[in-house]
Amino acid sequence: MSTCLFCRIIDRSIPSTIVYEDEHALAFQDIHPQAPVHLLVIPRRHIQSVQELEGTDGHLLGHLVQTCVKLSTQRGLGASGYRIVTNSGPDAGQTVFHLHFHLLGGRPLGWPPG
Ligand code: 5GP
Ligand code: ZN
Repeated sequence: MSTCLFCRIIDRSIPSTIVYEDEHALAFQDIHPQAPVHLLVIPRRHIQSVQELEGTDGHLLGHLVQTCVKLSTQRGLGASGYRIVTNSGPDAGQTVFHLHFHLLGGRPLGWPPG
């Protein structure tokens, strides 16, 4: 069994609220939401972070971002706006080492981040 938390969410050995899935990607609700909409969009393939993406992963990357945009539109965030963010490594505060994009929206989001 995988020790990666998000791989275990993918294989359903850890429960989560999955809101979208296809051949390459999965989206589910963050367990500690930081905004009214806080989804995590991840590749099915285990990749630690954007730092580990390879030159051939452009299509996958585009698909993950497009999935975020589609979900934001479905949730009515197109006009109010939203943020797509990914943390890579310790200075960014990455805590789960399976690539994920946070989709945040439904309230004004401060900038710059802490
Ligand atoms: P990071 O800090 O690595 O960018 O983001 C990891 C995210 O995963 C955090 O926002 C955290 O709340 C979320 N998370 C951690 N454990 C779980 C879990 O078991 N289930 C779900 N759905 N989200 C989780
Ligand atoms: Zn994983």
